[in-house]
Amino acid sequence: MTASVEEFRQRAREFLAANAVSRSEPPVEWTENALVAECRRFHGALADAGLAGITYPVEYGGLGLDKGYLEVFNQQLSRYQAPLLPAVISHGMCLPVINDFGTPEQRHRYQARMIRCDDIWCQMFSEPGAGSDVASLATRAVRDGDEWVLTGQKVWTSGAQYSEYGLCIARTDPSQPKHRGMSMFIIDLSLPGVEIRPLRQINGSSHFNEIYLTEVRVGRDCLVADEGAGWNVAVAMLMYERVAIGAGGSAALSGAVDSALLIAEAQKRGRNRDPSTRDALADLYIRERIQAYIGMRMRQASEAGQAPGPEGSIAKLNAAMLSRLTADSAVELAGASGQAWAADDEDGSRWADSVISSPGMGIAGGTNEVQRNIVGERVLGLPKEPDPYKGQPWESIPRS
Ligand SMILES: Cc1cc2nc3c(=O)[nH]c(=O)nc-3n(C[C@H](O)[C@H](O)[C@H](O)COP(=O)(O)OP(=O)(O)OC[C@H]3O[C@@H](n4cnc5c(N)ncnc54)[C@H](O)[C@@H]3O)c2cc1C
Repeated sequence: MTASVEEFRQRAREFLAANAVSRSEPPVEWTENALVAECRRFHGALADAGLAGITYPVEYGGLGLDKGYLEVFNQQLSRYQAPLLPAVISHGMCLPVINDFGTPEQRHRYQARMIRCDDIWCQMFSEPGAGSDVASLATRAVRDGDEWVLTGQKVWTSGAQYSEYGLCIARTDPSQPKHRGMSMFIIDLSLPGVEIRPLRQINGSSHFNEIYLTEVRVGRDCLVADEGAGWNVAVAMLMYERVAIGAGGSAALSGAVDSALLIAEAQKRGRNRDPSTRDALADLYIRERIQAYIGMRMRQASEAGQAPGPEGSIAKLNAAMLSRLTADSAVELAGASGQAWAADDEDGSRWADSVISSPGMGIAGGTNEVQRNIVGERVLGLPKEPDPYKGQPWESIPRS
């Protein structure tokens, strides 16, 4: 441990004590607007304090430090309720993709603002006819002189309602097989022709949106990587997504409760001596530890310079299953108040919310079935799923 890492830890500790609420305090309830404003304020202050963009190059607004500093910062951060959720996709997926694939001009223009959350970015992949099989997407980008013109519909776009930019994958050459002929674009969401419509969820929030693109014109400088290389960029982004969800973002994404909260609840309800409750809580705790070790392994691989690989799918799958199990245990423990609660029972709505929010974890970033397919094919070496249209031009494949 060098003196400078120690100094960094101390600075992080002081910053967080002054700017975030400890996990030992009651949960902070933010409205969406307040959370987004807090998120921007928090990351701006973090950047001013010299603690943001830890591993990104100095010339693009980062600190240029190695991942050991990031681990130190994250250890400190895990003790606080920080307003991170609105930037999870922007920081966990879009920022590393621009860092890896952006031109120097794109990196100068966007990275520092992303790090500070002056701009928040979203992921525009899924479409009504292209979710698990995102490579079958139909949004078209047609070249017109020095511009690209995009038309199509995206769906389930988390956070688009407060984002400034989106990374959007679109089809640039329909005569190519479906995995080729796609390109990745930076879309300024304030451009004419972009319409964002919120979708109302079962838990009452409007976390995600439909985005309609009607002849949206973007310059050639909005193309990320080469024309036709969109699938490579998308795969890299999906890997970052699985790591972001599997290696620690899961609780933030699902609003999930954890075993510590359930142990406190069992004590409050006098159920902490009940053998079946103790068994269930011990089981949850063990699974949480396993998830933490999987996350630690992935972070260590990343510190050793390895790009995220298919093992991210194991972490993501396990995080989704754990979130579901925890929510089920919570509502079992809460009994009737997990389904109907008195107005002054703050815990009741939390248990119910965790039950109706946790299934989304098994869908976002690739469903549990899709993660199992990836693990089967790319970790266990099982045969690939048959694809009767393999190699055929996208435009000749039947679509519903
Ligand atoms: C909370 C949340 C946030 C999201 N945020 C975003 C976002 O910001 N940006 C974005 O682009 N998308 C986002 N999504 C969309 C998400 O990526 C898709 O919902 C997901 O990829 C599944 O696609 P689909 O909904 O079209 O389901 P489908 O692909 O139609 O799948 C339907 C069912 O069929 C199963 N299935 C499909 N193919 C196979 C197969 N080959 N083998 C076995 N089973 C299969 C699936 O597991 C599923 O059960 C989000 C989703 C959620 C729930």
